[in-house]
Amino acid sequence: MKKILFVTSEAHPLIKTGGLADVCGSLPKALAELSNDIKLIIPNYQALKTSENVRFLCSVRVDNRNINILETRIPDSNVIVWLVDYPAYFNYPGNPYVDEKGEPWTNNAERFGLFCRIAVEASMDRIYQDWKPDVVHCNDWQSGLVPAFLSLEHDRPSTVFTIHNMAYQGLFPASTAALLNLPGQLWHPAGLEFHEMVSFIKGGLVYADHITTVSPTYALEIQTPEFGYGLEGLLDHRKEFLGGIINGIDLDQWDSETDPLITQPYTAATLNKKHFNKSALQARFALPVNDNIPLFGLIGRLVEQKGIDLILECLPEMVNLNMQFVLLGSGDKNFEKQLKKLALEHPDKIAISIGYDEALAHLIEAGADIFLMPSRFEPCGLNQMYSQRYGTIPIVRKTGGLADTVTDTLPETLANHTASGIMFTEAGSGALLEAIKRALILYSIPETWKKMQLNAMKKDFSWQNSAEQYLALYESL
Ligand code: ADP
Repeated sequence: MKKILFVTSEAHPLIKTGGLADVCGSLPKALAELSNDIKLIIPNYQALKTSENVRFLCSVRVDNRNINILETRIPDSNVIVWLVDYPAYFNYPGNPYVDEKGEPWTNNAERFGLFCRIAVEASMDRIYQDWKPDVVHCNDWQSGLVPAFLSLEHDRPSTVFTIHNMAYQGLFPASTAALLNLPGQLWHPAGLEFHEMVSFIKGGLVYADHITTVSPTYALEIQTPEFGYGLEGLLDHRKEFLGGIINGIDLDQWDSETDPLITQPYTAATLNKKHFNKSALQARFALPVNDNIPLFGLIGRLVEQKGIDLILECLPEMVNLNMQFVLLGSGDKNFEKQLKKLALEHPDKIAISIGYDEALAHLIEAGADIFLMPSRFEPCGLNQMYSQRYGTIPIVRKTGGLADTVTDTLPETLANHTASGIMFTEAGSGALLEAIKRALILYSIPETWKKMQLNAMKKDFSWQNSAEQYLALYESL
């Protein structure tokens, strides 16, 4: 049995802004089910919600500050969660990284710097809980200083650093080094320095015993200039200690048979009931309720990464086709504005919901016929897996985890029963539009479409398989 401390800035259902939360909420549960002793450490944000009891655990003094650690658990599991309670940094409205106006917190380096210090105290059991992990598993830049600080400790646990998205690196001005009291051993170009900035992510990339990312394809992509953001050389240098493990999905939450957030549960055997969700979704978005119109869905952060600009270029052409499009998301204000404008111009074809809405996300996955995910890059991506699970055919660009989890529909993949989506290669609106037209042709052949849906629904995206790969990695350290 391994003792593992997960260090993360978000974990579903406590607090979530994206896929990182899904992974850090469900992987620990899957590892616990393989009878490991797992704890999670996470900041106690104002927005953090839990249905479980929260109790005071202990106090710890770091950087001349007294910080409380509270204890709770991931709902419906025995995974213990330690909450780093420092109200001066975390008890504010807004999300973990940005304020209510969407601006990054100006003290993010101090906030997550302190969080990392506390995680190190917990990793070394200097919080006196008689619990010292074998492995400290850090996730994304917010936890990047943990492997760096731990590298200076004697008798330390092994460290794993998982990259969920290389685009976010936690870069701060050089003056931050003094502010964070970074020891000289860490503050140099082969350490935490990156072009005269402090780089949190480098703490993980340079000092962790092993680096993982969330799909095998992305693990290769980040070793190239296009996806490595100047860190490709370092990653290439560490490639012996770098690998990709695809994320699973939490089937307690994302199963069309048991999902309480959809209108009509269904399975591969009762696929004929899926259309009740489509009607509910069309009604919810005030679109004409008609099962014969192919319905496209999209859920996600409205940022360039997700190819929203490609969608915006395609929509004026798409409205000439027999189709409807619903979108749920928030992000770039300019994208939001353009999408709203198109929805106003084509109220019977395009409908937009700006915001974050867990229940609606489930209804879109169940109710749409086709899910759009034309990402420019995608470390793993979860929605394309949820879609397949729900018999909703994804259109994806061939990159990162999308390439690893979707099988393009071709004569040979139809013949060998693996075709489960539509894939295109070039990051341009022409290629996307062609993929959309291909999907509409396949949709118009009901037997073929149903085969694709059944292939998609029978794919195994459970955590079990990935959790076993993580466990094998922990054991190898
Ligand atoms: P990323 O982590 O890059 O945002 P992923 O596809 O890995 O992308 O994960 C996104 C997760 O966040 C999914 O569970 C998705 O359903 C959810 N999500 C994103 N935007 C919204 C939204 N506006 N409302 C509800 N859920 C959302």
